[in-house]
Amino acid sequence: MLVGWGGNNGSTFTAALVANRLGLSWPTRRGIQKANWFGSLTQAATVRLGDDIFAPFSHLLPSVNPDDIVVDGWDINSLNLFESMQRAQVLEPSLQQQLKPHLQTMKPRPSIYIPEFIAANQKSRADNVIEGSKQEQVEKLMSDIAQFKKSSNVDNVIVLWTANTECFSNVLEGVNDTAENLKLAIANDHPELSPSVLFAYASIAMGCTYINGSPQNTFVPGVLDFAQKKGVFVTGDDFKSGQTKIKSVLVDFLVGAGIKPTSIVSYNHLGNNDGKNLSAPKQFRSKEISKSNVVDDMVASNDILYEPGEKPDHVVVIKYVPYVGDSKRALDEYTSEIMMGGANTLVIHNTCEDSLLATPIILDLVILAELFSRVEIKRESWSDEEYTGFHPVLSILSYLCKAPLVPPGTPVINALSKQRSCIENIMKACIGLPPDNNMTLEYKVP
Ligand code: NAD
Repeated sequence: MLVGWGGNNGSTFTAALVANRLGLSWPTRRGIQKANWFGSLTQAATVRLGDDIFAPFSHLLPSVNPDDIVVDGWDINSLNLFESMQRAQVLEPSLQQQLKPHLQTMKPRPSIYIPEFIAANQKSRADNVIEGSKQEQVEKLMSDIAQFKKSSNVDNVIVLWTANTECFSNVLEGVNDTAENLKLAIANDHPELSPSVLFAYASIAMGCTYINGSPQNTFVPGVLDFAQKKGVFVTGDDFKSGQTKIKSVLVDFLVGAGIKPTSIVSYNHLGNNDGKNLSAPKQFRSKEISKSNVVDDMVASNDILYEPGEKPDHVVVIKYVPYVGDSKRALDEYTSEIMMGGANTLVIHNTCEDSLLATPIILDLVILAELFSRVEIKRESWSDEEYTGFHPVLSILSYLCKAPLVPPGTPVINALSKQRSCIENIMKACIGLPPDNNMTLEYKVP
């Protein structure tokens, strides 16, 4: 169930599910294009199992087939999914027409709109809202989840936030710092509780994994405490789709090569509704924070290059330019110190196609969260019966998140290759294969 179902990501994800399920194809200037899941780790990437043997990620362990996913959700805007897809201007018109009969019957459920948390420029979209107190709103979400589970007959409901970026919530003692206080604050209609916190609360109360695809701090201590007490999985924050993904590769490469990045400057301009919302300072601030820590672990790993506490200058700029629509431009300049005081500058221009990059990530988050919610592990010293599930904060999915949420006191890994190895090696361990160590010693013996 998607929160923000009628947005660019929500409508593109829904269209992609249906187009792939039906095996649709459509004409383009370059010929016939078939539906696919390029950009998805689970559907379009492989894992090395041995000499020249590669298997699709999705074949390693029994995991959900995208064709079996049933999608539903909420949006503060009432357009049906066909109209949302048209508004998003992401997919080709001839594909949209084929999808019309399937998408026009899908209509988002009313959602919680609290104007203080998203940009004022979103107000005109809010024509599909749940009225009432926060307690009543949470109860409505819980009954929506129960109703959907029953009517769709799915085994498992996962709730994923792909609605607009909210401003950060203040963490207040006695309000959102523990599960008990959060419950009371909902009953007392406290103003500091954002829509995303109410969604996370309702989802956890219903035992449904909750995924945060946006940068705001939905996972305040009270929400995490509640997830832990209920043993429900949560993961986030903020889809790692374009600029940050490249950054988490490039800085890992530079620092790993003994080259010292000293200045990283990232400009973005985009013209979709996400960009419009982010043009407001408080919502931009949430994104800026989410994008800012991505190089920290790589810098901290090399004390030959960096003094303790030293970091590269790192600046992020986002501007709203309506004309470019969903084709977000990300311009990055990386300046690094090389030997003898030399400087090396790399400049990257990336036309992102925002929602086409984010959609496969949404699919992977859902499929992998469901898969890892079924995996159990144990320490060597434990008896054979003593298996346990993973920690409710599912940090294994860091690969897909710009600002990975991790259990308190554990390290945050941002480097993309390490994040990928984590997923790959845990999956291999589940079928008794050793982690890939890349030594290939068999080829190095004379
Ligand atoms: P969008 O503006 O097109 O869609 C967001 C949808 O959420 C809109 O339809 C809006 O009406 C709805 N909405 C707002 N508040 C709501 C609420 N309280 N309840 C229910 N619906 C609500 O944006 P998008 O491009 O689809 O991006 C969605 C989110 O994903 C944004 O927060 C964005 O920052 C984040 N994100 C996107 C990408 C990417 O597209 N590449 C990457 C990382 C993060």
